[in-house]
Amino acid sequence: MSIVHPVSGMAGDQAGSGPAPVIGGRQLAFLDRARIYACGITPYDVTHLGHAATFVWIDALASTLRLFGIEPEVCRNITDVDDVLDEAAWRAGTPYDSFAAVQQYHFEQDMAALAVRAPAHEPRAHRYVPQVIRLAAGLLDGGVAYAREGSVYFRGQSAARRAGLGRAEALRLSAEYGGRPDDPAKEDPLDVAVWQAAEPGHPAWESPWGKGRPGWHAECAAMALSVFGVGVDVHAGGKDLRFPHHAYHAAMAETFTGVTPYARAWLHAGTVTTGGAKMAKSAGNLVLVRDLLAGHPAAAVRLMILDRPWADDWDYRPDLLDAAATRLERLYGAAGRTAAAGDLSGIGRLLADDLNVPAAIDHAIETGGAPARMLATVLRLS
Ligand SMILES: [Zn+2]
Repeated sequence: MSIVHPVSGMAGDQAGSGPAPVIGGRQLAFLDRARIYACGITPYDVTHLGHAATFVWIDALASTLRLFGIEPEVCRNITDVDDVLDEAAWRAGTPYDSFAAVQQYHFEQDMAALAVRAPAHEPRAHRYVPQVIRLAAGLLDGGVAYAREGSVYFRGQSAARRAGLGRAEALRLSAEYGGRPDDPAKEDPLDVAVWQAAEPGHPAWESPWGKGRPGWHAECAAMALSVFGVGVDVHAGGKDLRFPHHAYHAAMAETFTGVTPYARAWLHAGTVTTGGAKMAKSAGNLVLVRDLLAGHPAAAVRLMILDRPWADDWDYRPDLLDAAATRLERLYGAAGRTAAAGDLSGIGRLLADDLNVPAAIDHAIETGGAPARMLATVLRLS
């Protein structure tokens, strides 16, 4: 079923009417508000292009919904209780929370420089420990978790099944993303800690199971449920979070609330590589947002990110940025033309088709005038 939406004043009367937008391959009807949960950063290092791409896409999603008269409510968490962060803070000789706060500050500066709107909610994991304890207790009550040696483990086979992964692949990814499949306290290697018993070098809080800290997937699930209630309209994040992080997050949320599905749609932004390799500090191939912005306007960086299908993986090369700058000039040139009558609905229809930005840019350049100006405004390219 599709519905006709009210129209935002910003976009004019034609832009945001029509069928409900398609997001993540699913047509989603909204009344007036959209709850978008974005898995945010673990603040232990500088922001690179791979992070930025995800958050620019979420910003474009929010703008597109606004075009349809829907008010996006974005929650972008900060994962400041995290084993990798703890190690980075320890090496820097700084308490984990002040270390995280400094990195969060730099991240927010980078996002502002990229014209990414500030989220409505920015929960930090260390403030949600009581909610994780309540989540763990609920999962124990439901028989989908067990307490052992000061930890609480969520039974994970269902999460692997819902991700469509075979056991070997699920175990490989679990190990890669800190899931500790070889933890001897677990009944099954695919089980994950909702609550992790205290260990040296990590922060710890009191709980019914002794001192410990939240598990990664559980803290995101607790923040999402606490901010939005039983579920969200769109859950967004980088594609590499699909498993184990998002699969466990959704499985915990659904078994705790009894409400399925936890998310009506998913937006998993493609992975950005450079020279064909995943960006990593250890590989020395990080492309930093601040370096890109030193040589190019933010609009060119945004357009380089957005001028492609959001789910596609892509490899960064400097000439892509030059090409984006050239295409941006063409869009500006088209926007300056005054002759076109300006059919705004074409732009709205293309953006509502799972954020088909490349086609919307082509259309705007061809049409010129008001549609090109509107698209530049919606994508914050001006
Ligand atoms: Zn998350």
